Amino acid sequence: MKKISILGSTGSIGTQAIDVLKNLKMEVLGLTAHSNIELLEQQIYELQPLVVAVTDHEKALELRRRLRTNLVETKVVSGIEGLIEVATLDEVDIVLTSIVGMVGLRPTVAAIEAGKHIALANKETLVTAGELIMPLAKQHGVMIYPVDSEHSAIFQCLQGNNAKEVEKIILTASGGPFRGKTINELRNVTLSDALNHPNWSMGKKITIDSATLMNKGLEVIEAKWLFDLDIKDLEVVVHPQSIIHSMVLYQDGSYMAQLGQPDMRVPIQYALTYPKRIKNNFQRLDFTGLKDLTFEKPDQGTFQCLQLAFDALARKGTQPTVLNAANEEAVNLFLNNQCSFLDIPEIILQSMDAHRNILEPTLDDILEVENWTRNFVKGRWSE
Ligand code: NAD
Ligand code: MG
Repeated sequence: MKKISILGSTGSIGTQAIDVLKNLKMEVLGLTAHSNIELLEQQIYELQPLVVAVTDHEKALELRRRLRTNLVETKVVSGIEGLIEVATLDEVDIVLTSIVGMVGLRPTVAAIEAGKHIALANKETLVTAGELIMPLAKQHGVMIYPVDSEHSAIFQCLQGNNAKEVEKIILTASGGPFRGKTINELRNVTLSDALNHPNWSMGKKITIDSATLMNKGLEVIEAKWLFDLDIKDLEVVVHPQSIIHSMVLYQDGSYMAQLGQPDMRVPIQYALTYPKRIKNNFQRLDFTGLKDLTFEKPDQGTFQCLQLAFDALARKGTQPTVLNAANEEAVNLFLNNQCSFLDIPEIILQSMDAHRNILEPTLDDILEVENWTRNFVKGRWSE
């Protein structure tokens, strides 16, 4: 039986993964949560993992007390060391990285170094350090299975074909809640407008990223590293219905597309069961009930975050690290009503321009640049 640790088990992807696991023969050995110890406690009773990690030390103590009262033997650890412990547990075969943000970098590196395969939802890790992660995985004989729906679609479209014969990768984007709006209309959008995604129910950070189109920018960089592509081979097409999850064009003019309901459990399951396809009862598409499938160009003039991601990729080195870290800080400010929606690309642009790029960075360089960026944004934008 395959054994798994789930980093970020209380989040949107984490909870859907636990749902998927009900139908799979896999044993859960480790779980982690940032602060929701109530949900984590329920998951412990259900899955009986060996070890769980909670970011906050006090909350970890509280959870330990509760488990002891209920005579549960699961070990509770805390902090980044705790996360790393869960990511590297001896018997674990595969680690699902469903944490949000660049905090996922160190546990992912540790898991790879310990020889664990990775089911990767935490796209920020590849954006900030793809140049290091992919060779590291290769060096340790570790597979990185994409969970992100677009990347899972591409991965599926590549099966049975020769990657050298790919002409282009077409990432589809829903366009988010503000598709079609002008800059002027975006000036006064509110947090609740931005959190109202038309097709997907997800964590707050990725929902805001979808509204700014930064999510697609991060996914372009994620695809570049996962599939070893050149920027010119990557195209983004807005497809508001989110039925086609992405496409691959081969050099003979043939397109392969992967379609399905917008349901993250499908790519989560494929990442965990690859190369097998296990029967499930998730809702199927009713083609005759589908109305139009439409496609349009992304408006990169209005949604500047997507353009910034292409720029960061072109500038190379630590520019994608700065893009990602500045975006995380800007989204936090926006979530706390400390900046406006249109400040988000402005904050990122200023950070990228102020940064002295490091080509071929080490892991320490990346962690240092993440810190520099956080401080730069906080210094300028937080009261
Ligand atoms: P979420 O906010 O719902 O959950 C995040 C999880 O990470 C939670 O379990 C939380 O406890 C944990 N966490 C948050 N901050 C942490 C910190 N500082 N330290 C340790 N743990 C922390 O997020 P989500 O929507 O599930 O997204 C998770 C990742 O998956 C993101 O990288 C996102 O881009 C990616 N992703 C999500 C979806 C989706 O449908 N939700 C789709 C594709 C990709
Ligand atoms: Mg996606």
